[in-house]
Amino acid sequence: MIAGRSSECSILSRIKRMASVPSGSQLKVGIGDDCAVFRPRGGAEDLLFTTDMLLDEIHFRRTTHSAEDTGYKALARGLSDIAAMGGAPRFCLLSLAVPRWADQAWVDGFYRGFLKLARQTATPLAGGDLALAEQLACDVVVCGAVPKGGALLRSGAMPGNGIYVSGKLGGSALGLATGNGRAWKRHLRPEPRLALGRFLRERLHATAAMDLSDGLSLDLSRMCTASRVFASIEPPPVFPGATLDQALHGGEDYELLFTLPPGSRPPASFEGVPLTRIGVTTKVRRGDPPGKILLEGKPLPPLGFDHFQNS
Ligand SMILES: [Mg+2]
Repeated sequence: MIAGRSSECSILSRIKRMASVPSGSQLKVGIGDDCAVFRPRGGAEDLLFTTDMLLDEIHFRRTTHSAEDTGYKALARGLSDIAAMGGAPRFCLLSLAVPRWADQAWVDGFYRGFLKLARQTATPLAGGDLALAEQLACDVVVCGAVPKGGALLRSGAMPGNGIYVSGKLGGSALGLATGNGRAWKRHLRPEPRLALGRFLRERLHATAAMDLSDGLSLDLSRMCTASRVFASIEPPPVFPGATLDQALHGGEDYELLFTLPPGSRPPASFEGVPLTRIGVTTKVRRGDPPGKILLEGKPLPPLGFDHFQNS
């Protein structure tokens, strides 16, 4: 393992220091949010960029995940990051390293699953790369757009904002554990919340947002760290059959986590997906680093999925 016991977070902050952005750059948001935000000169829109790797035995298993499901998920993860910024996808790029076991039928199935979701979400495939390798690996770049200055960031929450989640959490973790039923389908085919992301930006004026990819406890802690606040929450809505632990710490739900200004009255659901208030952001106590979460008054450790600690 390249990283010893470092956490993904500490590796990222080291890289961030090394890759400093010159002042005056058109890059408005760099490393550390769901997408990078780039502002073209004279444009009415900001462009969003996200890149996600999908690796054999880490993100899927070819014994249990069909080629179509794998292709679908490869794109869904990037689209979820565009949704988290309140954006609309514009196009995508796909690089695929193909091992010997992946025959033509598998590769065709992968592209079928990928391109079906691409068509459904108006995200045309614009290019990429193909290579032969020992293990299957794929990297997907998605470009999206938001009106200039409108991107929802992780860093915008203020003390006193309501904290909300979409959907019911823990379904993907339950599906991975049981391998059947609705939860397994949730795990295989997460739905990027693109329409909800735009609704959060346009109608609810969300102050911060991100997608739940690594588990509520870890992702909320990341959002609170970026916003320099604490959070005080109650148990989130739990996917039928899942445990509270799976809902708090399980990854890959790809629901949206967001904050709203005080006094906001969001609808109870959006296009059939429940929107639930789970708590409130609070002021950082002097001497304590931001990012701390209290669940029913007790500290909640960020136990979600960290690729460099859970391996
Ligand atoms: Mg994300």
